[in-house]
Amino acid sequence: MRAHFIEGRDFEVFLEAMIRERRVIGPVAKKRKFVFGELESPGDLRLDHDVTILPPKEIFFPPAQVIARFDGDSVQSCTQGVETVLFGVHFYDVKAIDQLDFLFRENNADWDYLCQREATTIVASNIQSVSPRAFWSSVGAEVQPQGHDAFMTKIERGYVFETRTPKGESLVALGTFRDATAEEVQEAQRANAEAMNKCAETLPYSSDEIAERVRDSFGNEKMWDALADKCFSCGSCNMVCPTCYCFDVSDSWNLDQRSGSRTRYWDACLTREFAAVTQAGGVTENFREQRGDRFRHRFMRKATYLNEKLGGPACVGCGRCSQACTADIADPVRVITTIMEWKS
Ligand code: SF4
Ligand code: SF4
Repeated sequence: MRAHFIEGRDFEVFLEAMIRERRVIGPVAKKRKFVFGELESPGDLRLDHDVTILPPKEIFFPPAQVIARFDGDSVQSCTQGVETVLFGVHFYDVKAIDQLDFLFRENNADWDYLCQREATTIVASNIQSVSPRAFWSSVGAEVQPQGHDAFMTKIERGYVFETRTPKGESLVALGTFRDATAEEVQEAQRANAEAMNKCAETLPYSSDEIAERVRDSFGNEKMWDALADKCFSCGSCNMVCPTCYCFDVSDSWNLDQRSGSRTRYWDACLTREFAAVTQAGGVTENFREQRGDRFRHRFMRKATYLNEKLGGPACVGCGRCSQACTADIADPVRVITTIMEWKS
């Protein structure tokens, strides 16, 4: 890893060179919120974003992705990676990408995810504004982000640009960089450490304490029903989550009844139909019929089930679910605190 520095006045020229060379996606403004979008000019980039509406997983795992076209017996994959720089990703979203990288590589590697992932260079950036519902400083601290190729921190006169991989290092040739001084690296470390004290919400329990308590509360139906009492089963909390990765697959047939396409769509375990299966004779069985069952399943996945595989919780504390929930019941800090403090 090398630490470089670029003056603030040279930063736009660096971005311009990158945009000329390949597709650059970063946080851009959408009315009063932010989304990841393709940069047309350096001025589009908003490194002061607090959080984006959808997480950057949509670049590798789009909400709707045509994965194959078929004609009779012939099937062709339609997935192709486009050389891309994903610029300005906060560390909690890198941690979520790390989880998806692991899960989509595990067992049968998922090429429809991996081909765009491997064609992408990720530049993380420090957090300049904190989302009001974020709690990334107090969740999963035992897991460090790893999937980024470079990490950029804004300091007084410019940016410290620390590279982790050859892909990250190759970007340095596009700008007027010099080696960062020890003082500049320390200033960057201070900026990143200070950001960790700025979350308004915190979880005062370790991941292991939470995992054990959540698992032990599986049979507490009264509590789960109370937590899910106002749930609309809309699935918004799943849709905005950077660590949710369930999908459904659907085929569309052309009029010739021979050819068509296969598309995969994000799916959401909080929706009523998610766990419905059809049995012989057209009978439907739903093995998570009640709202409380579905709400419990989400928290079992986030706090307990995946911990062994991932080394920590499947929640990175972005707070998107808290903001997206119309009923304001999805906030993991409030839900976990209720579980931890529940007296039977
Ligand atoms: S966003 Fe809120 S209301 Fe919608 S499914 Fe999630 S918890 Fe229920
Ligand atoms: S559960 Fe909520 S806070 Fe945790 S990663 Fe998903 S959207 Fe973010």
